[in-house]
Amino acid sequence: MIVKSRLRWVGHVHRMVDHRLPKIVMYSELSSGYRERGAPRKRYKDSLKRTLSACDIDVQGWSDLATDRSAWRCRIQEATTKFEEERITAANNKRPRRDNPTQTPTPHPCRHCSRICRARIGLISHERACPQRHGQPP
Ligand SMILES: [Zn+2]
Repeated sequence: MIVKSRLRWVGHVHRMVDHRLPKIVMYSELSSGYRERGAPRKRYKDSLKRTLSACDIDVQGWSDLATDRSAWRCRIQEATTKFEEERITAANNKRPRRDNPTQTPTPHPCRHCSRICRARIGLISHERACPQRHGQPP
């Protein structure tokens, strides 16, 4: 749904006349020279590019296609249907691994009582509050 809405919206904005604010904002860039540390922030066009690639739509030529509203709608429908099918297939392929892990996690026994924690972070949390840690009965 998000992918579909995003594609519909960019097509809509692309077809706007050039002086409309949404179009100006979509195609503009900040002129500030100020750069924050670390990786550059994701811009709208970066996430659009990812969406287009994921939907197998030409990243360079999408705007030509979007000029024709009905052609764009057809392309979006086709692309998002395929995107959804692939997403479901990927999720189904992932499921057996999640439901039937080949490797069982190493148990983490408490040093103070008989409790077994499945995750190390759970053990840390448990040991901090373990009733037997200070010699108290469980
Ligand atoms: Zn304990």
